[in-house]
Amino acid sequence: MLPKRALSLTGLLLAPMVSWGFSYETPSITPEVGSGFEEKPGWAADSFAVAAANPLATDAGYQVLKAGGNAIDAAVAVQMVLTLVEPQSSGIGGGAFLMHFDGADVQAYDGRETAPAAVTGELFMEDGEPLPFMEAVASGLSVGVPGTLRMLEQAHAEHGQLAWQELFTPAITLAEEGFAVSQRLHTSLANDEDLRENDLAQAFYYSADGEPLEVGTTLKNPALAAILRRIAEEGSAAFYEGEVAEDLVEQVQSHPVRPGKISLDDISGYQSLEREPLCTPWQQWEVCGFPPPSSGHLTIMQILGMLDQQPLLEAPLENGVTSSGWLHQFLEASRLAFADRGRYIADPDFVEAPGGDWSLMLAPDYLGKRSELIGEESMGESAEPGNPGELTVSFASQPEQPEYGTSHISIVDADGNAIAMTTTIEQAFGSRILADGGTDLPGGYLLNNELTDFSFAPEVDGQPVANRVEPGKRPRSSMSPTLVFDQETGALVASLGSPGGAAIIHYTARTLAAMRDWGLNAQEALSLPHAITLGGDVYLEEGRFPEEIIESLRERGHSVSERELTSGLQAIRRLEDGTLFGGADPRREGVVMGE
Ligand code: GLU
Repeated sequence: MLPKRALSLTGLLLAPMVSWGFSYETPSITPEVGSGFEEKPGWAADSFAVAAANPLATDAGYQVLKAGGNAIDAAVAVQMVLTLVEPQSSGIGGGAFLMHFDGADVQAYDGRETAPAAVTGELFMEDGEPLPFMEAVASGLSVGVPGTLRMLEQAHAEHGQLAWQELFTPAITLAEEGFAVSQRLHTSLANDEDLRENDLAQAFYYSADGEPLEVGTTLKNPALAAILRRIAEEGSAAFYEGEVAEDLVEQVQSHPVRPGKISLDDISGYQSLEREPLCTPWQQWEVCGFPPPSSGHLTIMQILGMLDQQPLLEAPLENGVTSSGWLHQFLEASRLAFADRGRYIADPDFVEAPGGDWSLMLAPDYLGKRSELIGEESMGESAEPGNPGELTVSFASQPEQPEYGTSHISIVDADGNAIAMTTTIEQAFGSRILADGGTDLPGGYLLNNELTDFSFAPEVDGQPVANRVEPGKRPRSSMSPTLVFDQETGALVASLGSPGGAAIIHYTARTLAAMRDWGLNAQEALSLPHAITLGGDVYLEEGRFPEEIIESLRERGHSVSERELTSGLQAIRRLEDGTLFGGADPRREGVVMGE
């Protein structure tokens, strides 16, 4: 049964589809609130479903699936629309990781940005000190060579069913005819000081007196429409070579405060990669996720693996909230897992795995020993990395740095193919550089600041940091696109993932635990209140935990405060009867559509 919301969206947004080819009516949707918390019902579908962070993007994927496209086709259409309508989070100027299941095999496509050839380990150091974080972000220094488009082209060449060109129609149509600015885009624009410093962005997203575009304003993006038209016709070469690439280089190299060193050769030489996915048994399930350069899967499965070896709790969930007993175990396991993450995980083409094999970090014996370190009292900031395997170099731990932004897409098609794709320009609005591709038209796309995911300091106390900046290297990520399977039958169980910087790891781990252990559906699982720690303070989602729980965590020695924890989880679960049930994060604007 098609859920009500999906029906009404389709009715509102689209003229009847007479044949293949999109024809949007002037989109007149009132977008959902983008901040705060809006309860969502979850969405049921019989055979296919798509979940994305913005209703217009979800709708593009839905139309592709309905027209007979498969999961990869839909992912291309969704990403192009996200570039337009959720420019703060992801786009063709950024990078992504894509997990794909074709009914038999799982593949992991790496479209992570790379550091230009001319960088050194000192990229973010000035006078021997790391640059202030935001000064590095809003600059030409932070821009990595974008990878999303090449990655999608590679995956589409291998699996696509509909023509590449057609998948751009929704985004081009919306860019030419205009879309309604959402609450979340408006709020993001209002809250950002740095984007206004970029002349093109100031002219496009703000009024002359600096006011951000109002919610509901119809925004056209002619520059992006022109760029997407070329990419649709000529493929990704229209982005990685010629005028668009020349403009990218020009924007980065002419940054008025801190220019970067990206070159045309860096851009034309970009290659997306296929990596060996990591698939980890987890009781009745097998969880497949992205290997390094993402730290996501390894850290999630370390946390969950340690939890499985903790004493069983009578009530992990009390009155719809995780209990203090469960939170303590989860937070302590997180401290230990983040200590390993900070020491070991980086681009595998540049650093060796402990013992030569990343999966040693997930060995049950190793996690059993780590789990024994969890006591009644919090270990606070004292978690040290373990020793999952020998290394020939010894690394220093990387201090934590802030990360925000990003978008997640989950899709299951009618043939049983599935994708989980997390896609990012890193911070909200990335490097705050809007590029018009040399079109001289209003608008464009935003360049990422992914290189600030590297450690700013190349070494600590004379020892190198694994995730230091090096030419051609991909920065360590937390993105965790995840596909779950039934261990016995190999059938798909779920596709999920989230934005949220390093907290992606907690959001995804807790959602998995809620689905497997507490019998919650995808929507209930991802809506549960969040709790995170990167090894120091504990942050609880503001206003969602009872005072007794906060007090009880404090009594165990956690330093606890509350804050907004704006995940953007999307999840689709296949139920035992073969139908689908999807959830979209109540903390953002996402919806699920399907049939
Ligand atoms: N750049 C981050 C990463 O790759 C994601 C940022 C975010 O989700 O906020 O891990």
